[in-house]
Amino acid sequence: MGSPSMELRRQHLIDPAICIRCNTCEETCPRDAITHDDRNYVVRFDVCNGCGNCVPPCPTGAIDSWILVKRPWSVEEQLTWDDLPPSEAGEPAPAEQPQPDEVAAIIETATAATGGRVPPPFSAAHPYLNIYTRERPAVARVAGNHRITDPETESDIHHIVLDFGQQAFPVLEGQSIGVIPPGTDAKGRPHTIRLYSVASPRDGERPNHNNVSLTIKRVVTRDADGSLRPGVASNHLCDARKGDEVLVTGPFGDSFLMPNHPDANIIMICTGTGSAPFRAFTERRRRRAPDAPGKLLLFFGARSPGELPYFGPLMKLPPSLIDVNFAFSRVAGQPKTYVQDKIRERAADVGALLQSRDTFVYICGLKGMEQGCEEALADVCRQHGLNWSDLRSGMRREGRYHVETY
Ligand code: NAP
Repeated sequence: MGSPSMELRRQHLIDPAICIRCNTCEETCPRDAITHDDRNYVVRFDVCNGCGNCVPPCPTGAIDSWILVKRPWSVEEQLTWDDLPPSEAGEPAPAEQPQPDEVAAIIETATAATGGRVPPPFSAAHPYLNIYTRERPAVARVAGNHRITDPETESDIHHIVLDFGQQAFPVLEGQSIGVIPPGTDAKGRPHTIRLYSVASPRDGERPNHNNVSLTIKRVVTRDADGSLRPGVASNHLCDARKGDEVLVTGPFGDSFLMPNHPDANIIMICTGTGSAPFRAFTERRRRRAPDAPGKLLLFFGARSPGELPYFGPLMKLPPSLIDVNFAFSRVAGQPKTYVQDKIRERAADVGALLQSRDTFVYICGLKGMEQGCEEALADVCRQHGLNWSDLRSGMRREGRYHVETY
C-alpha cells in the first residue's frame, strides 16, 4: 500500500475498462513501474516517476489516466478493479493531449507537448477515440466471414465484415477496434478485450455502408503440457456466422493514420495479418485518388502465396496504383525471403522516396520484423549518403514514421 498523506497527489493509473492488455506499456516503462496479473495492468506508485514514456505507444489511451488522491492506490487494490475510482479532487488530473488543427503548427506542437510521441501525419483526418467501452460496447453483426488463405495451408486467416446498423462507428484507416469475446475465463471473469486493425477504409468495407472489415488469423497455442488451446477472440470471430453478434469497443489509435494529401508517398511494410491497415490505406487511395501523384510502395511478407492474405485481390491492382513487393519465406525450392530483403532489392526507389518530405513509412506485423526492417532502411540510407538514425528521428517528429508490431 502507498504511504499515507493528507496532501493530494497525482497518481498514474491504467483504466481497466479500456486496457486491452497488449503489454506495450510494461515493455516501454524505463523504470519497471508497470506490472500485471492475468487480468489487469497496474502502475506502482512508488516507482513511477511520471516520465510519460509509456503514454504514446498505448493503442487505446488506457494508460493516460491520472487522478488526484490523498492515499495512493496500491498495486493489490488496482488488480481488483474493473473501473477507475473517482479522483478525490472531483476532477481527473489533466493529462496533456494536444489536438492541434493548424497544419503549420501540428508537428512542433504535438512533438513538444507529448515528449517524443509520434504525431499523426499532418494531413491525417481527425480520429474519433474510445466512443464505445466494455460497459457500453457497440453491438455489431457479422455481415460476412470468409477464409482468405488457401485451405490446404496451416494459416487460417479470415476476412470478417462487421455491420454496425444504426450505431455511429467512425473509423479512419490505421485505427483499431476492440472485440469483447463472449463468456468468461477460467476464474469466471469476463474475457479481456482483443484489438484488431481495421482493414477497410473510412467509408466502409462496402462504400457508404456502416461496416468495417477485419483480418483475423485463427490462433491456436500449445500449452507447456503439449495440449492445444484455441485463442478465445480469434476463434470466436473466425467461427462467427452471418448475423452473429459481436461486442465492439473503440475506435482506438491517433498516430498510425493515413496521410490525406495526394502527394503523400506511402511505404507500407508488413507481415501476415499486419497487412490489415495497408488494405485500408490502399482501398482509400483506390477509391478516392487513384491518379494521385504520391506513390504507394508495399512490402508484404508471408510464408507462401497461399498463406498471404488478400493475395488474389492484390495481384489485380494496377501497377499505376501500387507497387507490390512480396517476400515469401517458405516456398519449396526458393530461398527464404523476408520483407527486409525486398527493401534492399528496391534500394534505389526506397532511397529516392526517403529523401522526400512527402514520404511516410509504416511497419506493421510481427515484432521480430522491426529490427530487420530498421537495418535494411539503414543500409538503403548508407547507399544514398543519408544517416538513417537522423532521418528516422526527423520522420518520427513529423509523423512520418510509424511502427505497430505485436
Ligand atoms: P506469420 O504468418 O507468422 O509470418 C508472416 C511472415 O513473416 C512469414 O513469412 C514469416 O517467416 C515472416 N517473419 C518471421 N519473422 C520475421 C522477421 N524477424 N522479419 C521479417 N519477417 C519475419 O505472421 P502472422 O501470424 O500473420 O502474424 C502477423 C503479426 O501481425 C502478428 O504478430 C499480429 O499480432 C500482428 N498484427 C495483426 C493485426 C491485425 O489486425 N490482425 C494488426 C497489426 C499487427 P517465417 O517463415 O520465418 O515464419
